[in-house]
Amino acid sequence: MSVASPNPALALQSKRWNGLRHLLEREGPFCKGDFSPSPDNLEFLQTKCKVLVIGAGGLGCELLKDLALVGFGDLHVIDMDTIELSNLNRQFLFRRSDIGASKAECAARFINGRVPTCRVTPHFKRIQDFDETFYSQFHLIVCGLDSIVARRWINGMLLSMLRYEDGSIDVSSIVPMIDGGTEGFKGNARVILPGFTACIECTLDLFPPQVNYPLCTIANTPRLPEHCIEYVKLIQWDKESPFNSVPLDGDDPQHIGWIYERSLERASEFNITGITYRLVQGVIKHIIPAVASTNAVIAAACALEVFKLATSCYDSMANYLNFNDLDGIYTYTYEAEKSETCLACSNTPQLLPIEDPNTTTLEDVIKLLCESAKYQLKSPALTTVTKEGKQKTLYLGTVKSIEQATRKNLTQSLGELGLEDGQQLTVTDITSPTAITLQLKYQANEVEMI
Ligand SMILES: [Zn+2]
Repeated sequence: MSVASPNPALALQSKRWNGLRHLLEREGPFCKGDFSPSPDNLEFLQTKCKVLVIGAGGLGCELLKDLALVGFGDLHVIDMDTIELSNLNRQFLFRRSDIGASKAECAARFINGRVPTCRVTPHFKRIQDFDETFYSQFHLIVCGLDSIVARRWINGMLLSMLRYEDGSIDVSSIVPMIDGGTEGFKGNARVILPGFTACIECTLDLFPPQVNYPLCTIANTPRLPEHCIEYVKLIQWDKESPFNSVPLDGDDPQHIGWIYERSLERASEFNITGITYRLVQGVIKHIIPAVASTNAVIAAACALEVFKLATSCYDSMANYLNFNDLDGIYTYTYEAEKSETCLACSNTPQLLPIEDPNTTTLEDVIKLLCESAKYQLKSPALTTVTKEGKQKTLYLGTVKSIEQATRKNLTQSLGELGLEDGQQLTVTDITSPTAITLQLKYQANEVEMI
């Protein structure tokens, strides 16, 4: 098909993409309806398609390698972290001499040196350091993150970039997001078309809140080695104040050693086995061991989805893949449904039901926003607009002077704060780049009306 080139290096280069040409220059029974086979598809992938990889850690290294070798020519990568010794067993783009350097910069340098057809641009920054202008330059965004807050933030950013015309979404404003996640031997990959398919917030209840063992279990009826470690960490450390009462430091081997010894003692008291130094480290620092093979599988699934979306040759996965190789291999793909009441993408004002405004305090509302599976906010700030049209800050915890000035509102009931049924609260939080609007819905009123 291709004309023989006199330059052997170029000829090799051209043969290299034969596999892709089979997919992109021929029709097939599984092709997407609107797919038109053409050499332009490969050219688009190699020279025009711009893909952002978020995270250059375990998943990020795999993603960059996969995408570069598939033939993508213009990749960007964001990561705010630097390389640590413990990364080197799986983050294979880094070497011992890179310890302390930026993950994004080292990963880009490695790929650029190794894969001549690919140019990776690194950003040694946080995702929050960029705005819409930056994110809207990409055709696709693929995430290899270990933080739910960061996932939620980028999800919110992509939703805020949607433009509407006559009530329907202008498709040119959609930047698809492919999200990979791994935890030990478990992983998932998903495709999100912002505004069209389930977003991160639609399925927020899939992320379990961080495990906290009930204190009574830890103190009275421990059954697991973790219970013993938590007991030593939460109770014995403060009681015995070792190391001149300094706070517990999970990176200090002496501290971990102390907790390990005490945990062993407590475990033997209750006939519990399984305390190891590594487990102590894991519980204290909330570490879940990273498994290189899980990262490889999930990154490959994500890279395949990037390829399908970029070339539109095949339909995307619909839309959520679960993978588990803890005991044999298990995978399952299902269609996560868009939530009608999603805070981020439903585009309708969200009702916040309040049992009784005279007994519900502002603190209760904040607690609900943090603890309920639906919201899972971290440090929400609440403002409202008064009847007189004035902006009023109800509570803001992140700026010291405003926290002091608004702290007294926490113990007041919504009634005492003058908040009425139907009034809107504007909520900002680190989990989203944009504010959420919640409308108070007093249940007591309904009862009276009946
Ligand atoms: Zn949603």
